[in-house]
Amino acid sequence: MTDNKDIKALIQKAESTHMLSKDEIVALLADTQYQDEFFAAADRVRQKYVGDEVHLRGLIEFSNICKQNCLYCGLRRDNKKVNRYRLEPGTVLDFAIKAKSYGYRTVVLQSGEDEWFSVDTMVDIIKRIKELGLAITLSVGEKTREVYQAYRDAGADRYLLRIETTDKALYEKLDPGMSWDNRVRCLKDLKELGFELGTGCLVGIPGQSLESLADDVLFFKSIDADMIGVGPFIPNPDTPLAEEVGGTFELSTKVMAMTRLLLPDINIPATTAMETLNPQGRVLALQRGANVVMPNVTEGDYRQMYMIYPGKICINDTPAHCRSCITGKIRGIGRKVSESHGFRVKRA
Ligand code: SAH
Repeated sequence: MTDNKDIKALIQKAESTHMLSKDEIVALLADTQYQDEFFAAADRVRQKYVGDEVHLRGLIEFSNICKQNCLYCGLRRDNKKVNRYRLEPGTVLDFAIKAKSYGYRTVVLQSGEDEWFSVDTMVDIIKRIKELGLAITLSVGEKTREVYQAYRDAGADRYLLRIETTDKALYEKLDPGMSWDNRVRCLKDLKELGFELGTGCLVGIPGQSLESLADDVLFFKSIDADMIGVGPFIPNPDTPLAEEVGGTFELSTKVMAMTRLLLPDINIPATTAMETLNPQGRVLALQRGANVVMPNVTEGDYRQMYMIYPGKICINDTPAHCRSCITGKIRGIGRKVSESHGFRVKRA
């Protein structure tokens, strides 16, 4: 057992050295007594390494068609209840132009694993968006190294592919037909090709332990991730995990704060799923280590059709509303909206 004095010492150690053992991470994740001190330490590290600026990334959800069948995800192939859509490349470009007009310096292009978007089509979209002077983050799943290379050559700057969990057996149970080793191969290829690498995990998936979450954070450090998205698992009624208990807001932000303490200079989004569980979720996350928000720039009915999990926030809002809403929230906690592209500045 770790006594109280040890917990405080561990928080100090994390804040000053950015190194903890797996057992130490587990002890901190399990602690409830010194949670406020823990979050305050993550907030100080955030302030010291990445400052008060919050980077906004405009999220374009361009297709909800997916060939994969992940048990937790509403976009899974076997979910017949979701209305499928895919945006024309020209529409994706229109949304990117609008994102730029709202002042976003980055667009995140996210979709299911939709084979309709060939390499040539993606390369064309990437090139046209790059002409706008925007940074591009792709989040389109597992591809070959050659395909990643083509995206990179076309000008894509960052890539987001969550490992979801570092527990290989659990991953392969929840992502049938997928290989954990291949996911790691993707992450390593992306890093080698010079993308800013984003990954992350789900918190509270059935069968996950605190030990496993500690492994996740250590994994993020070992692959030198440039950004980490942590979000609670929210059971989706139209999936095989409908009856499971989801992750909590508190534990998700704890894993996020731990990530800030151990990877002090990376970019960490306050995730949308956090706000689904807590109406102040993103603002609280920004005060517990996060420095990025990804407002949705997808318009109209597509928002509700991109239903990964239920209760997704802001599905009836317009992109313009999201922009002013989030700006107000950021200013309300004494932070400012960044005017830079928001690349990672290595300081650790
Ligand atoms: N096809 C892309 C994008 C996936 S969707 C890819 O493979 O990277 C983006 C993220 O949503 C996933 O990485 C997963 O972590 C998250 N997600 C999926 N189902 C979820 C659920 N039920 N609750 C919360 N987050 C979920």
